[in-house]
Amino acid sequence: MYPQTARVAMLREIRPPQTRPFAIETVAVPPLTEGAVLGKIVMAGVCGTDVHILHGKVAIKTPAILGHENVARVEAIGGEQPLRDITGKQIHIGDLITWLPKSCMKCYNCTILGDPAKCERRIGYGGWVPAWQHPYLVGGFAEYVWLLPDSDIVVIPPEVPPPAVVLGDALRVMVHGLERIGGLEYGDTVVVQGAGAVGLMGLLLARDAGAGRVIVIGGPAGRLALAKEFGADEVIDITQTSAAQRIARVLELTNNRGADVVFECAGVPAAVAEGLEVVRINGRYLIAGHYGDAGTVPLNPHMINRKQIRIDGAWSAANKHFLRGLNLLRKIPVDRLVTHQFDLDHVNEAVIATERQEALKAVIMP
Ligand SMILES: [Zn+2]
Ligand SMILES: [Zn+2]
Repeated sequence: MYPQTARVAMLREIRPPQTRPFAIETVAVPPLTEGAVLGKIVMAGVCGTDVHILHGKVAIKTPAILGHENVARVEAIGGEQPLRDITGKQIHIGDLITWLPKSCMKCYNCTILGDPAKCERRIGYGGWVPAWQHPYLVGGFAEYVWLLPDSDIVVIPPEVPPPAVVLGDALRVMVHGLERIGGLEYGDTVVVQGAGAVGLMGLLLARDAGAGRVIVIGGPAGRLALAKEFGADEVIDITQTSAAQRIARVLELTNNRGADVVFECAGVPAAVAEGLEVVRINGRYLIAGHYGDAGTVPLNPHMINRKQIRIDGAWSAANKHFLRGLNLLRKIPVDRLVTHQFDLDHVNEAVIATERQEALKAVIMP
């Protein structure tokens, strides 16, 4: 039975999590057109980006339905034609799917620069597709999602559980970043700044890519315990140390040479100044945590010059990075990283837990 209405967590105004910005509303479910898909949301991750949106640091228009790290079960498919996912697999009713931001593959950045992650007309569910016009159901914090024809859908392989798909959002930016810095050399020492979802995905990716040793700098203690459990050789708690102490510790661990590669996954400008201090001569520094604009920081260019540091940035990711990330999520049970579950009525609590860093990854299960 095709549903007539769906409950959604509507965001009508941008304001901080503590003000409980989401309200549950009931929205009519439009009939499907040819090639459109109706999905029943199974799990929607709450991302640091959602918190940034609620603080006005990532621009979107309201009213909006957030939730861009989603798993849904296919409820209905529009039309009679077989529909395929981005890998060519046919999509069936009952399949578990996720969907990725759609790049136009026509604009300058898509075609001339060859960088679909920087598409000028990107269609991003979960905040960037308007919720005030057809098809209305455009985010994961809802009972149903209505996917436009030609959406970039991925049928989830049976061996990848929903929590892994949710974490795939944080992983893909790190897969993208690793590609940009040219990968690791076997045995590299990697410092990961930040112990949130992106940082822990950076840790797992570094290990998978051949790192000899991974040092995670972050907090609070619960997140660092997870980092240890998932293979960090050393953790440094930012709540117990000064920047000078952290720098000294990394140098001590690396024969005073510094790390071969440093991943910035913290989203804090001061972390960049600190991170450059612990990169070795000819080392590489990847900035991946600043999706939102967190402001500026004083840097000493002499250090970059003297140590010949290569600095790169990774902004979101292309579809290929998500698909490549699935190979890692297939073999590492990341379920434990989903620390908090909420139903749709408690979306406000979920974003509050994310902002306070109580949750490593909170999910909504409508
Ligand atoms: Zn995200
Ligand atoms: Zn484009």
